[in-house]
Amino acid sequence: MLDLVFPQTCPGCDSAIEDNEKLCGDCLSGITFISGLSSCARCGIPFGFYKSKNDYGDGGKNEGHLCGRCLTGSHSFSKARSIALYDGKLVDIIYGFKYRGNPGLGDFLSGLLAGGMPYGADEFDVIVPVPLHINKLRSREYNQSAVLAKNLSKSIGVKHDLFGLKKTRDTMPQFEIQKEEARRKNVRGAFSVTDPDAFSGKSVLVVDDVFTTGSTTDECARALLKAGASEVRVLTVARARWA
Ligand SMILES: [Zn+2]
Ligand SMILES: [Zn+2]
Repeated sequence: MLDLVFPQTCPGCDSAIEDNEKLCGDCLSGITFISGLSSCARCGIPFGFYKSKNDYGDGGKNEGHLCGRCLTGSHSFSKARSIALYDGKLVDIIYGFKYRGNPGLGDFLSGLLAGGMPYGADEFDVIVPVPLHINKLRSREYNQSAVLAKNLSKSIGVKHDLFGLKKTRDTMPQFEIQKEEARRKNVRGAFSVTDPDAFSGKSVLVVDDVFTTGSTTDECARALLKAGASEVRVLTVARARWA
């Protein structure tokens, strides 16, 4: 049961909506939900949706198949899932949430996460957000991933640790970097746990707004596993196209 309060205007376009609606019909039809699409068992990328050679893998004909990237490389997280494709109206909504600090959009996006939660809540001990470096936190005033993690935690009844991970090194924004290898390098070793004992034997859910190559969440997972976490999974609102 969600107890989020939604505004009575559409968070995507500000047009009036009914009390029981979360988004107007136009905006809703501009969001492509991933659940139901055939996707990689590991990283969750929908097969054939984005025109990348790595996207197809072994064909994705069956449940349990892996994309080309997961067949040849490995991620630190055991699974990553996203609710919808990062295109259409969702791009505007996430932008408004991230850079314009619209809290109503945070509620809406958290509602998407909770409503489309692809894992069982009982599979996790704790939810942690991808942290921002203190320099970014100062300029942006809040960590959008922490808002999502906190709201999801409340909705599904799994505890959260908003400062469980910290970003120890400021990095270039990933969206300014084209190549996947360069993205990995950019965030390599940039995260660590705040308390070395906090995650020992714990199953952790890492929450973020957008998953692109997964380099960032992968580094978060690496830091958590290094600190003794038993498993790390990833959940993001959106899945972006990459190279
Ligand atoms: Zn709308
Ligand atoms: Zn994959």
